[in-house]
Amino acid sequence: MEKTKLTGRVVTPGDSEYEQARINNNLSFPKFPKIIVFCQNTKDVQNALKWARENHIPFRVRSGRHSYENFSLVNGGLIIDVSEMDRIKVNREKMIAKIEAGANLGKVYNKLWEYGTTIPAGTESSVGLVGLTLGGGIGMLTRLFGLTCDNLIEIEMVRASGSKGAELIKANKNHNSDLFWACCGGGGGNFGIVTSFTFKVHPISRVSVFSITWGWEDFEAVFNAWQNWAPHTDDRLTSEIEFKSKEVNQIIAQGEFVGTSSRLKQLLQPLTTTGSPTSVLIKEVPYIEAVRFFDDPSGNQSAHRKRSGSFLNKPFPKKAILTMKQFLEKAPNENSGIWHQSLGGAAGKVEPKKTAFYYRDAIIAQEYLATWNNPEEERENIRWIKELRSALSPYTTGDYVNWPDRQIKDWPTAYYGENFKRLREVKTAYDPFNTFKFPQSIPPYNSGFKKNRGAPFL
Ligand SMILES: Cc1cc2nc3c(=O)[nH]c(=O)nc-3n(C[C@H](O)[C@H](O)[C@H](O)COP(=O)(O)OP(=O)(O)OC[C@H]3O[C@@H](n4cnc5c(N)ncnc54)[C@H](O)[C@@H]3O)c2cc1C
Repeated sequence: MEKTKLTGRVVTPGDSEYEQARINNNLSFPKFPKIIVFCQNTKDVQNALKWARENHIPFRVRSGRHSYENFSLVNGGLIIDVSEMDRIKVNREKMIAKIEAGANLGKVYNKLWEYGTTIPAGTESSVGLVGLTLGGGIGMLTRLFGLTCDNLIEIEMVRASGSKGAELIKANKNHNSDLFWACCGGGGGNFGIVTSFTFKVHPISRVSVFSITWGWEDFEAVFNAWQNWAPHTDDRLTSEIEFKSKEVNQIIAQGEFVGTSSRLKQLLQPLTTTGSPTSVLIKEVPYIEAVRFFDDPSGNQSAHRKRSGSFLNKPFPKKAILTMKQFLEKAPNENSGIWHQSLGGAAGKVEPKKTAFYYRDAIIAQEYLATWNNPEEERENIRWIKELRSALSPYTTGDYVNWPDRQIKDWPTAYYGENFKRLREVKTAYDPFNTFKFPQSIPPYNSGFKKNRGAPFL
């Protein structure tokens, strides 16, 4: 039988584009792949998967390059990159959009806006829609329209069939419904290579946004006010709050309300009357301006990072708030912070086992962030994140699979709770030979997987 050839734009270490093609958003844990293929269509994806299988070459799938642990890269292997497959077709009558797997959030929001529509997704424009959706997807419309995956209608995916094949399949609520379930929160890279999504889209025109800033002295009062308000206020309002290191002396709450600025002003009273805000901004804007308002240019640029996270099912007691404060007082550098997004609303109305995204009861997603410039600072920053996560763990639960962290030993429970067992069943049905694997991938039943063993550093 004739051997399969790689098709698409192929980049190898001798090429001038290699360095740019190799790096991800996180410059730590660098990887040096042997070949990167930028697929242009589904056939290129199928050829790449077949080629890797025929030649027994390790491979990873990549789109927006934002995996915290660089799970979309592998040393000495093949990177199947779908980022140049980013066409989007909107059907305004049916209120659906077919989006190829390489589209990033910036492209998606701008294209859908041309039709006066959107989907609920994340805030930074360079994040890949595919990685974000497969892990759930949270952002500034979560409390109104649910997680990104809650708005999925259908997936097209290339799976590893037989011993060397690459089969294009569809999954929706009626067809391959177990795979569809798993793709709504089970995380990227586990079951096959998504080539396109079909989403339900929502009409959108004008929205209101806010930004409130306080100084360090209001730390406890502001956190307490926000946590008791944000997950329970009007479902049309989703917000985030970031506590930066003490050195920066800045606490910023921001959010988006699908309604008027005068109503938003009323809803914000529990925050604006807390402590002494140093600035308050409330304005009504066309939706696409709100998208730009939340897009953080520093997050879109590659940097040395360590991140981790967890969920809150109930408000933090004073002791936990003081723990956060102590950690931010001794943060390894000024770019360290603790970020939160309010959940509840539409995202919380779905049962934990209805999709693979288990933590539906969570009221807040909490993220620990460290960014540094000098590679020598890596150890200290990673230690700070590890100790912070551990110190807050008596008050938190799980971790969002889109914020993966190699340091978590029992990652199956942290990411999937009681849904891990069913995810393994789906994995066994669609990828029995464990063709799609990375340090924290879902193992099929015959793979000798042992829990609590941590993740190998591949
Ligand atoms: C700066 C920054 C901002 C973020 N903001 C948000 C946010 O607002 N909301 C939120 O929910 N999350 C956010 N995240 C987390 C984000 O959702 C995850 O990092 C997500 O996995 C990124 O997907 P990607 O396609 O960009 O990354 P990649 O690194 O390309 O891929 C991530 C994972 O998906 C797999 N994958 C990639 N392409 C495919 C494919 N075609 N088929 C199957 N698997 C595939 C990869 O193998 C990898 O395991 C943010 C992350 C960063 C770094």
